[in-house]
Amino acid sequence: MIVKGEKMETKENLATRIRNLCYNVAMHKLLEQAKEAAKNAYCKYSDFPVGAAVMTENGAVYTGCNVENASYGLTICAERNAVAAAVANGETKIRAVAIYSPKMEKITPCGACLQVLAEFGTQEVITEAKDFKMHELLPEAFCI
Ligand SMILES: [Zn+2]
Repeated sequence: MIVKGEKMETKENLATRIRNLCYNVAMHKLLEQAKEAAKNAYCKYSDFPVGAAVMTENGAVYTGCNVENASYGLTICAERNAVAAAVANGETKIRAVAIYSPKMEKITPCGACLQVLAEFGTQEVITEAKDFKMHELLPEAFCI
């Protein structure tokens, strides 16, 4: 309802607000998918479960969890497992990644995962505590 004297919202403003709302809903859902993936973490050595969900430019979502190994160096992070799942399905452009661990609210990807996420153009990093722009976390990604 428009009250007399109230300024009517332009179509452009309304469209922007709807786009932002849809984006926020999508990112919330992405974080929920990361939470689900964390339940499958194989982390018997660290007891630090992590789940990740990447959303591609096509809107598809792929998830991953950390998979540890008795030979610690073979451990693979949730983020890289999610990226690998996307690539295995033919997706090479990642829009956003959500990361979740029940052990740490403000979790961020490790350096190796940031580099891998940068390789596929990731722009947004979503966590329960805060959302980041990729360039905030890795301002000078290595590229050839
Ligand atoms: Zn990592």
